[in-house]
Amino acid sequence: LVRLRSRLSRSQNTLGKGLLTLLSRDRLDEDTWEEVEDTLLTADVGVAPTQELVERLRTRVKVLGTRTPAELRTLLHEELVALIGPESDRTVRSTRDGDGPAVVLVVGVNGVGKTTTTGKLARVLVADGRRVVLGAADTFRAAAADQLQTWGERVGAHTVRGPEGGDPASVAFDAVKEGIAEGVDTVLVDTAGRLHTKTGLMDELGKVKRVVEKHGPVDEVLLVLDATTGQNGLVQARVFAEVVDITGIVLTKLDGTAKGGIVIAVQRELGVPVKLVGLGEGADDLAPFEPAAFVDALIG
Ligand code: GDP
Repeated sequence: LVRLRSRLSRSQNTLGKGLLTLLSRDRLDEDTWEEVEDTLLTADVGVAPTQELVERLRTRVKVLGTRTPAELRTLLHEELVALIGPESDRTVRSTRDGDGPAVVLVVGVNGVGKTTTTGKLARVLVADGRRVVLGAADTFRAAAADQLQTWGERVGAHTVRGPEGGDPASVAFDAVKEGIAEGVDTVLVDTAGRLHTKTGLMDELGKVKRVVEKHGPVDEVLLVLDATTGQNGLVQARVFAEVVDITGIVLTKLDGTAKGGIVIAVQRELGVPVKLVGLGEGADDLAPFEPAAFVDALIG
């Protein structure tokens, strides 16, 4: 939590602190509530969740009457956590019970942090005692396979790769095959994210999934989104959701934005939980997403 707070507070905090300051005013008039609304919208919380939250805060503040700072903090904390949805299952499925490796596809547009996230996730899983095979199916970005292999070597995971410019689906297929042969727990497949045309992406990603499914079901499709791109991330999310069933979201670069509200917006949009957050470029900077800790860090 301390690390989360220090990472977020670099540029973040505006959301939680701002809200708390507004709610602490002596008189909560229409103008103040409008400011609350603006603060939420500016932080990319999204229109519908913003309205919902403001409505609930108004009601509860009215019931409360006089407010101590501690009461307000508790109230705001509860409501933000409720909005994020504390009850979601946020575990990344990384094993199957005695039935081959769990297959995890990591998808997203180029540059969002897909390869880095795949590497960091491998590290977390290996640290948890899992055996992992990596699939470098991003065959279009020249450096991606090298980058992934470097992560693999660091954590002791075998990386399956193909020729540069080769067929991503065939690399993904081979990686799962290798994972089955080695009897590992998890196969993590880094996919290509060329959003040059929507049809191109659909074809490519759809094919990767279909080909991998020849080995059995895909356990997890993690969509990686760059938190600093704000509403753009939502547009990407919609496109990907049309192609594959997303089972979890990874929000990267939360250390570099004041728009933490995107966590709320993107879950609402897809109906899929944020499972992991990226808080920096370092190997240790991937954390499970915990609503209560996140809101704590937001409020400061
Ligand atoms: P890909 O094209 O989606 O595979 O993107 P990469 O994994 O190559 O990452 C693109 C850039 O984003 C790299 O410079 C990463 O170090 C950086 N990056 C990835 N995740 C994070 C994060 O959580 N925070 C920050 N600040 N940078 C990140």
